[in-house]
Amino acid sequence: MAKGRIVIDVERCKGCELCRDACPQDVLMLSDKFNNKGYRPVFLLEHDNECTGCALCAIACPDACITVYRQVPQRRLHPAQTAV
Ligand code: SF4
Ligand code: SF4
Repeated sequence: MAKGRIVIDVERCKGCELCRDACPQDVLMLSDKFNNKGYRPVFLLEHDNECTGCALCAIACPDACITVYRQVPQRRLHPAQTAV
């Protein structure tokens, strides 16, 4: 399965939790700290590395606070094959 990582612009996040509702892996949590606007931003639970990089959180965010990085496993080629 693909692995992913997200970066959240915590100072722009307003803690609406739409991204949490959209995440199929349930790896987003609200921080117990406040940002400069007085909102509790979300953060990624990284201990189990279960983010798949599906980007549903980024699509759901009305303020485009989330950038997604996705690592797709490389398929191993047979020696007779050539990469294109
Ligand atoms: S990229 Fe997908 S799995 Fe990762 S935090 Fe966002 S919605 Fe969840
Ligand atoms: S949807 Fe966007 S603004 Fe709302 S909590 Fe998630 S990152 Fe923050």
